Amino acid sequence: MPFKPQKGGFMIQIQLPNGHSMPALGLGTWDLRGNECFSAVKEALHLGYRHIDTAEMYGNEAEIGRALKNLGVPRRELFVTTKVWTNHHRAADFKKAAEASLGRLGLSAVDLLLIHWPNPSVPLSETLKALCQLAQEGKALSIGVSNFSAALLKEAVSLATVPIACDQVPYSITENKKDFLAYARSQGVSVCAYTPLGKGAFLNRPELLEVSQKYGKTPAQVALRWLVQQKGVAAIPKASGVKHLKENIEIFDFKLDPLDLQLLTKLQK
Ligand code: NAP
Repeated sequence: MPFKPQKGGFMIQIQLPNGHSMPALGLGTWDLRGNECFSAVKEALHLGYRHIDTAEMYGNEAEIGRALKNLGVPRRELFVTTKVWTNHHRAADFKKAAEASLGRLGLSAVDLLLIHWPNPSVPLSETLKALCQLAQEGKALSIGVSNFSAALLKEAVSLATVPIACDQVPYSITENKKDFLAYARSQGVSVCAYTPLGKGAFLNRPELLEVSQKYGKTPAQVALRWLVQQKGVAAIPKASGVKHLKENIEIFDFKLDPLDLQLLTKLQK
């Protein structure tokens, strides 16, 4: 259901194969722990974020669950992603790990359940079977993978009995992922861009500063807008304080024009 952030325009929603949708901007929570995590998620929900990205490996699902419960945002408005770590790729372990994540989050189902990283020591068919079964049991509304190359994604798509809705990969304005994106789109797989701000590494590049001045936006806002303006691409910047949280969600009230998009390609490696 579309909702309006306090400021910054309407959130773009990405349609997933099973008919539900993923907000194009979410909160990344890697490295947020304890009260810092609780406060960041609470603040984010206040600001209009409805998409929260976590993983069993982040050790913060319980704090996120506490924040979700505390704020009382209707469940249907939330989009929660979690991921199962590589030590749980055997079918029985995978199911147990995903159910433990649900318990910590206080949810009966997550919106998106991902295989966090490929693990060549366990057949992908076994892990995918467990993942698809969780979807069939209604414990994951959509399923996907993370850190899968186009070749591995192709293998996952061919093995899965439930559509792969998303591949979460590192992607930012400094990277050219045209071939990967074209393949993902051809299969109806959305892309969730992690480390979308490059952990701040490129935010003072002159081309980015020039474009941000033109729009009266910050370099981080332009870098995030560049991602969410692409069809089927979501971004999950991590931010811990109100200033960054607010800045990162206020990107739905402007659009980068083709000339600026061209100028920004100079940032690509
Ligand atoms: P990132 O989001 O690119 O960068 C986070 C850094 O940027 C933090 O230091 C943050 O500072 C700063 N920042 C946030 N907003 C800013 C703004 N508007 N202006 C300037 N600086 C800003 O990097 P990331 O944490 O690696 O990636 C984001 C999320 O992706 C993770 O939290 C995680 O959820 C996910 N991820 C997934 C995988 C995977 O394997 N699937 C791997 C890595 C990450 P403050 O904290 O001080 O606000």
